[in-house]
Parts: sequence; C-alpha cells; structure tokens
Amino acid sequence: MKNAKFSFIYQMQPWLGKEEQQAISSYLKSGGWLTEFEKTQQLEEMLVKFTGAKYACMVSNGTVSLFIALQALDIGQEDEVIVPNFTMIASANAVILSGAKPVLVDIDRENLCIDLKLAQKAITKKTKALMFVSINGRSPDMYEITSFCKKNKLYLIEDAAQSLGSKWKGKHLGTFGEIGSFSFSSPKVITTGQGGALITNSKDLIKKIRQIKDFGRIKSGVDEHITLGYNFKFTDLQAVIGIEQMKRLSMRVKRKKEIYNLYKETLSPLKQVQFIPTDLENTSPWLIDTLADKRDELIAYLLKNQIGSRKFYPPIHTQAPYKNWQKYKRRSFPISEEISSKGLWLPSYSFLTDKTILQVCKVIKKFYS
Ligand SMILES: *Cc1c(COP(=O)(O)O)cnc(C)c1O
Repeated sequence: MKNAKFSFIYQMQPWLGKEEQQAISSYLKSGGWLTEFEKTQQLEEMLVKFTGAKYACMVSNGTVSLFIALQALDIGQEDEVIVPNFTMIASANAVILSGAKPVLVDIDRENLCIDLKLAQKAITKKTKALMFVSINGRSPDMYEITSFCKKNKLYLIEDAAQSLGSKWKGKHLGTFGEIGSFSFSSPKVITTGQGGALITNSKDLIKKIRQIKDFGRIKSGVDEHITLGYNFKFTDLQAVIGIEQMKRLSMRVKRKKEIYNLYKETLSPLKQVQFIPTDLENTSPWLIDTLADKRDELIAYLLKNQIGSRKFYPPIHTQAPYKNWQKYKRRSFPISEEISSKGLWLPSYSFLTDKTILQVCKVIKKFYS
C-alpha cells in the first residue's frame, strides 16, 4: 500500500475501471474493425436517451464538433459569431477555423456565462450566431438566451463541453439551441480519451452533420460527395469505453454535486475563498471552481503539500492569436479579467474521497491562517 500522505492529489484524472478493460478486451476478441460502427451508434443512442435530444452524432473531439456545427449552419467567411471571452480557447478557435470571426463579449459575474446586455451591443449585420458556453455546467435563464437569439435572428450553438449531466429547469443543456456540442477528452465529465458529440432535434441538421464528418458523402461507403466534408469520425474502440462511462454517468453526476457541497461547506468559514452561486438541483459542477485571494501563492503552497490545482482560463483576448486584433487592442473585459486573475480549480475528479477533500481543505485553511 502506498502511503496516502505522500501520494500526489491530482487536480483532474479520468476514471477508468475494470468494466472498461473487460469491454475493450471482448471488443477486440469480437473482430471489430475499430472504426465507428455499431458501438458508436449504441453510444449515440445512450446520449440521446440521457440528454433528451432527438439525435446525437459522435465525432473526433469537441473542437471539431463546434466546427461541424458552424459548417452545418452555413456559417463562414464574412460572418460573425458571438463568443464569451471566458471559455476554453476552442470555443473561439473553432469560429476562426470556420472562416468566420469570433466577436468576444465579457461575462456575467453571477454565473460566468456570457453577458447578454453586452452581447446585444456586439451585434452587427454580419452576426449569424451566438456560441453560448455553459461554463462548468452553469447557465442563466436559458429562455432568455433562446429569446435573445430569436429576437436577433441568430442561431444558438451551445458549447456544452463541460455540461454533460447539467440542466436548466430539468432540461438538459445543449438542447436549447439548434445544435449542442460535448467533449469527451480526458479531463471531461466522462471520457473516451478524445471525442466529441453533437446533439440536435433537427433531422436536416443531423443529416448534414453526418455528411460533413464523412467527406461529404451521400452515404457511408459511397463516393459521391454532395457537400464539403472531411474526416471527423469516431472509433468503435473509443465507443466501447464511452458506453461503460455512460453507464455510470448518473452516479458521477450525483457524486460531483456531493463533492462540490463538501468543499463549499468545509471552506465556508474562509472569506478568502469564494464559490460561484450554484444551483445543485440542475448543475453538476464539472470542476470545483473558486475565486481565491493570493491565488498564485496558494497554488505554490498546495503543490508543496502534494496537491494539484489549476488556474482558470485566461481571458481569450489576452492570448497570442487574439492579442493583436485591432478590435481587442484597447478594449477591456473587466469581469473575465478579474475572475481569471483569481480563479482556481481545486482537485475535482469524480472518484475523490471525502477524506481527500477534507485533507485539501485543511491545507487551504492552514495557508490562510
Ligand atoms: C474541452 C472544451 C472544448 C474542446 O473540446 P476538445 O474535445 O478538447 O477538443 C471546447 N469547449 C469547451 C467549453 C471545453 O471545455
């Protein structure tokens, strides 16, 4: 037995067990072709059932799934897409990949999602879509988001990469707009190593999505191309893992909420560590996100105590690919700047034990004492 005291506590780890091992082994024995086929379809059906969307389509990752969403909605050159300035960089980069221009907008301090009043000001004749990011599974009133899009004649693309298991008023995030997108990269709620999914209720869109991810073929295996497409397919080898992960998703969602609660209650005496208002009825926080005083010193102190943590994403406009855009040069984004400078993700993986959480909290309390 390793001495728990000296083993490193990671900020995030995928959770893979015996079930995945057995499933992979029996898949390999079955003589499958590895690429996407029946296992991928089964995983898509599980996603449909879990999210309540009509259709789901697995793709290579959560970045290309956003790109495919933009392509399927015919968004490209000359178009603009509104993107929050605080998100994982892929949300904005996917817009650039499509040929359109991401227009960055600051976020709301309450829920760290896009500020709709500011989004309204950013709309031009060229604006085609809002890329709404439900950051860490949180969302504002989603009917405000959908009516905003309707009023301004915008498509709603939901980057729900962090929101598998999170809802608004009982309806799964990703199902409010034209297309919702998920990611299954290693740190996400559940993982297939890499992987992404699109969900939609539109028969036309799912058809287009399936064509775009398979070279624009009229149908699989037939080399007649009716649209511009690429290869963004998934593999059954990954789907086998995804199916096992999906089977335990509800349990993980429940555990994520318990983990969040335990951190919040244990750290509540500290003024220096703030939590973001979270409705745990609907939100399954993917990460334990806090705003911490003396954040960088705390990170170093945690590390000295064998505890991993991670800074929030930087505001997109400060990053190299965006920094030199004339448009953003002199603009300030006070909320994303503030929360990025204080934001800290604490150890958040789904199989954290209560004991480990209490140990992390103890070290944090000691730091501030
Ligand atoms: C992880 C993530 C992505 C990118 O997904 P990948 O599968 O890593 O390409 C996009 N948007 C958000 C909000 C994410 O958290």
